[in-house]
Amino acid sequence: MKTEVSEEFVRLCGQVGAFTKNVTGTSIVDAYFGPEEFDPDRAQFDGNVLFLVGRLSSLVDRVRDEVSDELRRDYLIGETESLIVVMRWLSGESMTYSELVEGLFGLRPKKFRESVIDENIAVVEEVFADFPGSDLREKIRLFSEDGQVTGESLKQLVEGDLQHRALEVGRMFRDTVFAIMGASVTDNGVTYEAVSGKPWSGYNWYLGGFRSLNQFNIDRKFNSDTLRGVVYHEYEHHVSNLWREHQYNKTGALELSIVPLHTGRCVISEGTADTAKEFLGVDDGDPRTRAINALYALRRMTSINAAIMLNQDNRSEEEAVDYMVDRGHRSREAATASLGFITRTTRDGNPNLWSPYIMTYFIGRTDFVLPTFSRAKEEDQLSEFFRTLYLNQYSGSSRTWRRAFEWLN
Ligand SMILES: [Zn+2]
Repeated sequence: MKTEVSEEFVRLCGQVGAFTKNVTGTSIVDAYFGPEEFDPDRAQFDGNVLFLVGRLSSLVDRVRDEVSDELRRDYLIGETESLIVVMRWLSGESMTYSELVEGLFGLRPKKFRESVIDENIAVVEEVFADFPGSDLREKIRLFSEDGQVTGESLKQLVEGDLQHRALEVGRMFRDTVFAIMGASVTDNGVTYEAVSGKPWSGYNWYLGGFRSLNQFNIDRKFNSDTLRGVVYHEYEHHVSNLWREHQYNKTGALELSIVPLHTGRCVISEGTADTAKEFLGVDDGDPRTRAINALYALRRMTSINAAIMLNQDNRSEEEAVDYMVDRGHRSREAATASLGFITRTTRDGNPNLWSPYIMTYFIGRTDFVLPTFSRAKEEDQLSEFFRTLYLNQYSGSSRTWRRAFEWLN
């Protein structure tokens, strides 16, 4: 009997996940809430890269022939093609950083010109004009250190106050976004946990059953503003997955029960998470929020440039850190800590799974999610915007986004 394409997709995701776990220590399967028989945790990779790539390619052909819904078809093809690139990359095939990013995420890594960085520094300077400090660097340092927490006190904050804060953010999503959509979804909540030794600052693990575990990296330093930013970002991931599980339960489409990393899906997922503040209407333009927003753009852009320096231009880690300090106005400590996410290889010499991922956030927000959201807001179409985004999960890929929102143009 011929296997359904969605079943084959889930099986192959599991096998690619087992493969990436062998090579990098991390499975590209980020979450799963489907039937136990296809559980990707049980999947094995038999060591034959070519055979698995062949099965993925056949799946692309089958999807093209067998899936009639256009958005679902393009979504599945895009996701499967990304998985092929994951296999080729991590099995050692040589490809440029640009080819890698384009193959995984369907977008070109773009280096921001120094004149653009200058413009952004000018914006930061203007926003910080009335903040205390003798020059911009000192102003940013004082601002970042104000209420700064790390280590044990951050752990207490994460597992105490933040847990309550999350209930509030959940309520905000219900009262604003879901109310606008005129729809509701089960939300069994988010548990907060402090961790260390991770390359990221925060992570949403969707557990299925409408629950998430949000981890915060207490090696990093946060203040109340940056912490709030991470809470909104990670909570939006939780919300997006609530709707995904909801749609899976409703339709039984198996491919929705698995959440793979390093595909076109991530561009929209990170782009929406980085736009959660706008979704919730909490971007109210007070001086601290404006300061955080200006720094956000500058830091995301200079991190992208630093990643390109390391992965494409063969520049050293020292040069990348210097660049993020000089041009991104980061502390040396923060710039060094962020290296773990963007270097070509990890300390143990394996390919760094995260090195292309830095492209998803800012480009996902500025080239995909924010312009569409802003237009929907202008046109008084926010209800339809959120319904397209959350109720039709096939809209959530860089490969399908524009088509899914064609109605807006
Ligand atoms: Zn994220």
